[in-house]
Amino acid sequence: MIMLIETHSHLDDKQFDADRDEVIARAFSGGVKKIINIGAGLGSSWRSVDLAEKYKDIFCAIGLHPHYFMEYGEKSFDKFDEFKTLSPSKKLVAIGEIGLDYFIPDGGMITEEQKKLQKKGFMLQLELAKVLKLPVILHCRGSRPVAPSIYRETEDSYEDIFEIISKFSELNFVWHSFGGRLEFAEKVLKKENMLFSFSGNITYSKPNAEIFEVLRKIPIERIMLETDCPYLAPVPMRGKRNEPSYVKYVAQKIAETKRLEIEDLAKITTGNAEKFFGI
Ligand SMILES: [Zn+2]
Repeated sequence: MIMLIETHSHLDDKQFDADRDEVIARAFSGGVKKIINIGAGLGSSWRSVDLAEKYKDIFCAIGLHPHYFMEYGEKSFDKFDEFKTLSPSKKLVAIGEIGLDYFIPDGGMITEEQKKLQKKGFMLQLELAKVLKLPVILHCRGSRPVAPSIYRETEDSYEDIFEIISKFSELNFVWHSFGGRLEFAEKVLKKENMLFSFSGNITYSKPNAEIFEVLRKIPIERIMLETDCPYLAPVPMRGKRNEPSYVKYVAQKIAETKRLEIEDLAKITTGNAEKFFGI
């Protein structure tokens, strides 16, 4: 059986409350070797640490998602000391998901003020990653899709993140669920401390979509696999609740796109994740 590493789960999500242990057991018996559970706020970072301490092969990341800063505004920063108390966990392997999210639902537009707030929160956490010598999982969403039907976004947040993290050359980064265009991917590829991870949304695209050009361009040594569960279930599970065992569908799609044997892809991406997270 091929063995994969699921680098981006939200197993602490309430959608798993009824059957979390079964979901985890299904992953480990179905070819998932290790799981990184991601923090996306203060509560979920706490839960992520708890989960990692309970299961030997689950590791955790802690992070305050840009939505957290949008929700709590300046008050978010009052919680930063509490957030830092999570850092001694031995299972902590990364800071994330953190970054910039410029998408405002219902046709709204992000303000400069809101961008400033997100950037402040992002940079505080990059400083923490530097102190803790941990890699960083990036969340990035542009303010608008270029067109609703294609897998493409405006790159305002991408450019802003790139500019900020270029000042942190001692840190390693992964662009989670990467959705940037080819030209942007090429720019990221020039930075050796930056990796990419892909989730189920690559299985939604039409065969001629730019994402496949992006995938072909990125060497497999720079790619990690993820589900982002419970969101973004890959085809053929699209529309259902996503779970770590579905990471195999993401692996298959990448192998098919890059014309690699699934065994080779598994071996290399697993090695990438073990090295990146030090696990
Ligand atoms: Zn996520």
